[in-house]
Amino acid sequence: MIDVQNIFKTFYVPHEVQALHNVSYHVNPGEVVVVIGPSGSGKSTFLRCLNRLEYADEGQILIDGVDILAPKTDINKIRMEVGMVFQSFNLFPHLSVLENVTIGQTSVRKRNKAESVESAMKLLNKVGIHDKAHVHPAQLSGGQQQRVAIARALAMDPKVMLFDEPTSALDPEMIGEVLDVMKTLATEGMTMVVVTHEMGFAREVADHVVFMDEGKVIEVGPPEHFFTSPEHDRTKLFLSQIL
Ligand code: ADP
Ligand code: MG
Repeated sequence: MIDVQNIFKTFYVPHEVQALHNVSYHVNPGEVVVVIGPSGSGKSTFLRCLNRLEYADEGQILIDGVDILAPKTDINKIRMEVGMVFQSFNLFPHLSVLENVTIGQTSVRKRNKAESVESAMKLLNKVGIHDKAHVHPAQLSGGQQQRVAIARALAMDPKVMLFDEPTSALDPEMIGEVLDVMKTLATEGMTMVVVTHEMGFAREVADHVVFMDEGKVIEVGPPEHFFTSPEHDRTKLFLSQIL
């Protein structure tokens, strides 16, 4: 479903940083991959390259066989197929919850209004917020806003969902409700790449854990192996700091 080969990404402003250095990775359909690593190791840049929020300098990225770096590939098509959820929710503040979940369907997926509302209500029900359909995001808690953001991404019927620290901005009591929605998606077979510090989620849900440092993939393994017997010194050091 995701095939990344030898990608590089350098930023030049405010100073030169090689954010990704020869990263290759492969995700099968239905797999859940958790990406961990220190701040600045390139996790967000890696995710953002997968839906072309960042354009990789070199290498190849195939999403379900589509070469997303090919100039002819329609950016809207990529964004429909690859949903993303951010740490900071990024809901449209001037739209109701329902409108947040229908707007992409009508404007990008070209669905009619009735169809979009029906699918939005199903998704809001799925994430447990259908009773808040007509309020604005500011009236919701962080956990509720993040669940709306997940529903909004799902409304495009993506093939892949990317999560960049989806619970890092939440009060502790709201983390579980967001992780539960993500677990349900994983169980239903969604292909997911998740950057998170929630190691319980990684252990329970991930098929593979990827450790990144300094723009490189250092180590990959199934969680049971990764957490109990990491091979690389940098992985051991990182795990000793966070566990
Ligand atoms: P992580 O998500 O692991 O904390 P990032 O991918 O955000 O790491 O960042 C990797 C490196 O790239 C960091 O040094 C960061 O400062 C730099 N970087 C990320 N995005 C940008 C950007 N848009 N412009 C300039 N530098 C960036
Ligand atoms: Mg990041």
